[in-house]
Amino acid sequence: QAKRGGRNSLSFYDPAMQATLEIRAALENDLRQALEENQFQLYYQMQVNQIGQILGAEVLIRWLHPQRGLVSPLEFIELAEETGQILPIGKWVIETACAQLKTWENQHRFANLQLAVNVSAPQFHQNDFVEHIRHTLQHYRLNPERLKLELTESLVLDDIEDTITKMQQLREIGVRFSMDDFGTGYSSLYYLTKLPIDQLKIDQSFVQNIGITQNDGVIVQTIIGMANNLGIESLAEGVETEEQRAFLEQHGCNFYQGYLFSRPLPLNQFEERFIAANTEQSAASHVSTGIN
Ligand code: C2E
Ligand code: MG
Ligand code: MG
Ligand code: MG
Repeated sequence: QAKRGGRNSLSFYDPAMQATLEIRAALENDLRQALEENQFQLYYQMQVNQIGQILGAEVLIRWLHPQRGLVSPLEFIELAEETGQILPIGKWVIETACAQLKTWENQHRFANLQLAVNVSAPQFHQNDFVEHIRHTLQHYRLNPERLKLELTESLVLDDIEDTITKMQQLREIGVRFSMDDFGTGYSSLYYLTKLPIDQLKIDQSFVQNIGITQNDGVIVQTIIGMANNLGIESLAEGVETEEQRAFLEQHGCNFYQGYLFSRPLPLNQFEERFIAANTEQSAASHVSTGIN
């Protein structure tokens, strides 16, 4: 919020602005202790295919603040990026996600589930980013294809040379990539063909206007078509209604994520939903194949 101060920069005292700055300073201070104090948690939001099978989940960080309760990443990620706190936080997210993949593997369940992790620009452009991912995957002996990194267009274009190098190194290991919030950045179509991208994640602002403004429907349709033609997967985020899902399916979108299927959930609730959905799935397939 404080970033939008430019317009008001001539007013000498603005109580609302002052309050914002105070909250910000307090959060910044608390953020320093949050990791040590174990205040972060990962939530999991399922990603499904056209027939509703859960193929993966996006991990979304939550900050359980001792006084403020659950703080949204929208309120602290940018701050963490500005203060450099995102570096240890980002490492924690990757390690926790990989440890979870290993735990499931050891429990002989969710064996093929992929986890998608959001990566911040300062985190990605750190010198040891590739090495940290490599090391973490080796440490847990994971199939690297189970880890998907969500990058944004601005991260990619921040330093295109560094991005190409790192993405290629990670691709050699087998790590997968999704372009998050696709269509909202400085969409340069140039890099789409130069980078090892597996998936375009259609931004929820387009998805949510399906059936409301015609142009957004056209954009969604165009992104799906472009992804198909480039041999890249398409995933729609923020799918909330059956109407949106049907439109996306009709235009060939491969994967879906949004409140229509599930909100992001804490680990145990996510596992319950997964098990329930799988039971339904196999019951349904038994009926349809006549096996009983
Ligand atoms: P994002 O990566 O684009 O994540 C999607 C956001 O949309 C999530 O918000 C998710 O809860 C929300 N969402 C999912 N389905 C729906 C839906 O059907 N309707 C609506 N209205 N919203 C939906 P969340 O969890 O608040 O995260 C916000 C942003 O914070 C993320 O956007 C991502 O940019 C960032 N973020 C979250 N976790 C991390 C993290 O571990 N590391 C980094 N660097 N950034 C993170
Ligand atoms: Mg994301
Ligand atoms: Mg997104
Ligand atoms: Mg977003």
